[in-house]
Amino acid sequence: MLGMAASTSPLKHRRPGAHPAAKGKETPIGRKRRARRINRTLAAAYPDAHAELDFTNPLELLVATALSAQTTDVRVNMVTPALFAKYPTAADYAEANQAEVEEIIRSTGFYRSKAANLIAMGQKLVTDFGGEVPEKLEDLITLPGVGRKTAHVVRGNAFGYPGLTVDTHFQRLVKRMMLTEETDPVKIEHAIAELIERREWTMFSHRIIFHGRRVCNARKPACGACPIAFDCPSFGVGPTDPEEAAELVSGPERDHILRMVGL
Ligand code: SF4
Repeated sequence: MLGMAASTSPLKHRRPGAHPAAKGKETPIGRKRRARRINRTLAAAYPDAHAELDFTNPLELLVATALSAQTTDVRVNMVTPALFAKYPTAADYAEANQAEVEEIIRSTGFYRSKAANLIAMGQKLVTDFGGEVPEKLEDLITLPGVGRKTAHVVRGNAFGYPGLTVDTHFQRLVKRMMLTEETDPVKIEHAIAELIERREWTMFSHRIIFHGRRVCNARKPACGACPIAFDCPSFGVGPTDPEEAAELVSGPERDHILRMVGL
């Protein structure tokens, strides 16, 4: 049953393909306004958006993020309690036995190279940074296995510096929303940084990633139950029928999202 539509309701959507961005007719200021509106709507949809990796300090987040390559945050959260208990400091990783680390992190995949990276990372933290996780981007990316994505996650969530986390969900979503034509992650990061207010970068990343997991799924996005349908030029790539789309929405925010779109 359809109820009253919120102002962000997909009931107020455009015909598939009718969005100015889908026709290549969006102005730069129009795109910026739309990106900020999307951010505000996603903030209302996911008030609890956060990094889904469990951690209590910068080192734990650094390690968890390094482990999250090619696997899910849920799987990483299953191995990190034992890992963090056994290796509480950078020096502990620096001196760790590779086979023992591998055994703990095995289920996260690519465990040999991940274990080697964790040990090398511990060694570099000890030799170059006094055993502490550095805060600067240029320092973080010198650590083995740490790229810009991991560095931004750590800076944004452990140190509070605004940062855009361009992971696969983020790339897929901003492409679908036609917020940038760039395909290279660093160029995507810079393009989105031009659109979204700096103070919002970290939370925008979390919201986009939450949305990609709960509503805008890779294979079958729930367009007919999507809070940002009005602002999405790709509306229609998934089912537009509200009842059918509602079935595709998942996660703890499901009821809240469906209420938001008037379902
Ligand atoms: S679910 Fe559909 S309308 Fe919503 S962001 Fe994804 S593609 Fe766009």
